[in-house]
Amino acid sequence: MLKPGSTIGILGGGQLGRMLAIEGARLGYRCVGYAPEGDNVAAEVCADFFVARWDDTAALAAFAAQCDAITYEFENVPLSVFDTLPVEPVFPPRKALEVAQDRLAEKRFVEGLGGRPALHAAIDSRADLDDAVERIGTPGILKTRREGYDGKGQWRIASAHDAESVQLSGGPAIYEGFVDFGAEFSVILVRGQDGDVRFWESARNVHRDGILATSSLPAGEAIAGQVEETHALAKLVADALDYVGVLTLEFFATTNGPVFNEMAPRVHNSGHWTIEGAVTSQFANHMRAVAGLPLGDTATVAETVTMTNLIGKDSASAQTLLGEPDTHLHLYGKKQARAGRKMGHVTRLTRRTGSGQS
Ligand code: AMP
Repeated sequence: MLKPGSTIGILGGGQLGRMLAIEGARLGYRCVGYAPEGDNVAAEVCADFFVARWDDTAALAAFAAQCDAITYEFENVPLSVFDTLPVEPVFPPRKALEVAQDRLAEKRFVEGLGGRPALHAAIDSRADLDDAVERIGTPGILKTRREGYDGKGQWRIASAHDAESVQLSGGPAIYEGFVDFGAEFSVILVRGQDGDVRFWESARNVHRDGILATSSLPAGEAIAGQVEETHALAKLVADALDYVGVLTLEFFATTNGPVFNEMAPRVHNSGHWTIEGAVTSQFANHMRAVAGLPLGDTATVAETVTMTNLIGKDSASAQTLLGEPDTHLHLYGKKQARAGRKMGHVTRLTRRTGSGQS
């Protein structure tokens, strides 16, 4: 168990790191960040922040020298960083990052534990794509295996004709059959150093242009009926990885049951509602797990919750929301509001009756 005043290192400097560092500070820890040059919005709330490349061994050594434990907020941290870092422990474990960095590896890993991904095929050449389109059919989605996020690195393929005209980037890719889903949801769990596992309630996620737009509770029947099965699968995944921290698995709810989409070895955008909507947020419980503290209660404290992402220019007038009851605005402090960029989020709650609201 890390003593108060110990230092937790966070690799990555985005909004997830920012929200982790805020919770780390509340628990009495110093948080020190590390990320390459960029709009590192976590730096404003960290006790210290290193801006250096992932291959800068001297900077990594100086960062690690300050840390009693290290975590990450970004799944594309190169694995070579973990070979360089002299400090143990790193949570979640390296193996989780290794699996989650590759869309094919994560599908195989979860499939090996009984999960059901969409029909898919590895694409390394034009011939692979032609074969996959013939075998799996259209519509489908071609995705880069590595480094895609928020719909980036994805191309919808409506017909075999589309497949002929798509430009292959050269890197490894995956072709997935389009899943006819009724709803999308994620399973977010936290696993402590003692193996204790807790789940937050699964919200209904709505994406626009491949980017999460809203997460809301209650999630509805289609999702509620698939939660038990996906919890069991997510626990198997976490146990198999000897996981410590928050782990997210995303699913499509279909009439034939849950279809696994992808996993993230970190806190997740679809869990931002837990800051106000749960007894203990995903950020607080992640830091508790990394520090070896007992996990907090993950129960939902509201009747209904809606988390809405503020994307691109949506954030411009967000401060007008500050006067609304039980509406919680989070702005990440990003300097430029580019299209498709997550600038902040708003969580609106309605409380259970008798919970002290007048
Ligand atoms: P991903 O980056 O894989 O999470 O994809 C982003 C979003 O695109 C998902 O949350 C879905 O809304 C949509 N999507 C991705 N893959 C598929 C699929 N195989 N079938 C249907 N929709 C998909």
